[in-house]
Amino acid sequence: MDEAGKRLQAIIDTVIDGIITIDINGVIESINPAGAVLFGYDIKDLIGHKINKLMPQPYRSQHDQYLTNYLTTREPKIIGIGREVEGMRKDGSTFPLRLAVSEVQLDNRTIFTGIIHDLSAMKAAERSLKELNDKLETLVDERTRELEGVINKLLKVNEQLEYEISERKQMQEILQQREEQLQISLAKEMELGELKSRFVSMASHEFRTPLSTILSSAALLQRYTLEEHQDRRDKHISRIKSSVANLTGILNDFLSLSKLEEGKIEVNYQRITLSELCGEVVDEVQGLLKEGQHIYHEDRTSGKEVELDRRIMKNILFNLLSNAIKYSGEDKPIHCIAEFEESNLCVTIRDQGIGIPLAEQKHLFSRFFRATNSLNIQGTGLGLDIVNRYLKLLNGTITFESEEGAGSSFTITIPQ
Ligand code: ADP
Repeated sequence: MDEAGKRLQAIIDTVIDGIITIDINGVIESINPAGAVLFGYDIKDLIGHKINKLMPQPYRSQHDQYLTNYLTTREPKIIGIGREVEGMRKDGSTFPLRLAVSEVQLDNRTIFTGIIHDLSAMKAAERSLKELNDKLETLVDERTRELEGVINKLLKVNEQLEYEISERKQMQEILQQREEQLQISLAKEMELGELKSRFVSMASHEFRTPLSTILSSAALLQRYTLEEHQDRRDKHISRIKSSVANLTGILNDFLSLSKLEEGKIEVNYQRITLSELCGEVVDEVQGLLKEGQHIYHEDRTSGKEVELDRRIMKNILFNLLSNAIKYSGEDKPIHCIAEFEESNLCVTIRDQGIGIPLAEQKHLFSRFFRATNSLNIQGTGLGLDIVNRYLKLLNGTITFESEEGAGSSFTITIPQ
């Protein structure tokens, strides 16, 4: 063997991969020590033996056929390609290997060289990697399931919380409504309380004057026993009468107000002639007129009939006319004008009385309001409130103009 041949042999003998040559019948011609170790044989046990000895079934039986096929068709399955296959050791165990086969053309014949690289370690590493991977995947799966469980629990807790929150909100709303209702009733109660106390002070004040008049007139009457005292007796009798009328008026106001408050006043529309109705009221208030006062009743409705509640309308007019009389001096004229404006019925009652101070006019329709310039005149501060409420029942309105010391004019408007 020359130098190059020796070197080649040394390389073949020392490489870690197995190198095997076979003839075209699959008989092993040479194998290097690494190759023999790989399969667990001595070299001498392999030389001259078929290569399929190193393959597990079914490759072992198929190998001869494979070689024949290749030699006739030249269609390679491994030769010149290289692939992973399984080898079988002497003890029957198998192991993975990478096989690279090449065809070698010698002078007079063909041989095949196979280079075998043991893949056991790599496969084992791959396997453990896969196992690790599988374990990891199972772990991830488990954790995912656990997480899903936790998330589901959280979702349920969340749902429960949302439900509780919405319930709480509802409760809060109900509580708020209750509180608002309570506040309203409290405010109403307070208003009622205030009204009561104002009423009591007003009533005690307004009742005292006529009652003391009655008392003193009655006491005086006892004294006037002589025939010639008839004048004085008449004077005191008329004082008593007017005081009683006064008290009756106040009581009527209370009655009307309480009925209005309770919604007990029913509206009964009927066809009436306004001029007639105004005439009736004007007649009724005659007894209240002071010296020289006169009511000028002017009817501009041409006796036309209107749809109205007679009783309510009389009450409104009575209130306004008696105010005009009460708050005007002797000899002052009072006008009562009834007319149509478009489809509305309007009645204006005008006087030349004490008028209402400008600064106080905004309180005019508040219950118990009494203007400062009228405090020495008998009154309850209920009349205009009653008028206003009656008018609302008829869908009507009231407006006024007044100048202190010059007079007032009240106009009611009722749609027809
Ligand atoms: P009352 O006359 O019993 O006091 P009203 O509610 O009728 O109650 O009137 C409220 C207040 O309005 C009166 O106290 C008075 O100050 C004022 N007022 C009403 N009508 C007139 C009027 N024609 N002239 C001047 N003041 C009036």
